[in-house]
Amino acid sequence: MKGDKPGWKELPEGALIVVPGSSEEYATGDWRTKRPVIDMNKCTHCLLCWVYCPDSSILAVDGKIVGVDLEHCKGCGICARECPPKVSAISMVPEE
Ligand code: SF4
Ligand code: SF4
Repeated sequence: MKGDKPGWKELPEGALIVVPGSSEEYATGDWRTKRPVIDMNKCTHCLLCWVYCPDSSILAVDGKIVGVDLEHCKGCGICARECPPKVSAISMVPEE
């Protein structure tokens, strides 16, 4: 140990991923306090929200946005932030 701070070898083990590729099994949508709602009348299908969503929760078929996977969407709001301001098709609404 150098000084007062522990080195990385002294740190306790954190979470372990024992089954690779298993993240889909976790319903991270349970964490959400706000949900993204897409106004399909405004959406231009530019796919920016699909690209930026960290949880791959924006659903697209044949290059068109079709909805949101609410079982895994954590409600971070990145999709709403990245939707072009002139379009502003995504609103974050509080979960009931
Ligand atoms: S709120 Fe976050 S997790 Fe949910 S669809 Fe948008 S970017 Fe993805
Ligand atoms: S970023 Fe906005 S306009 Fe582009 S696909 Fe997503 S919801 Fe539609």
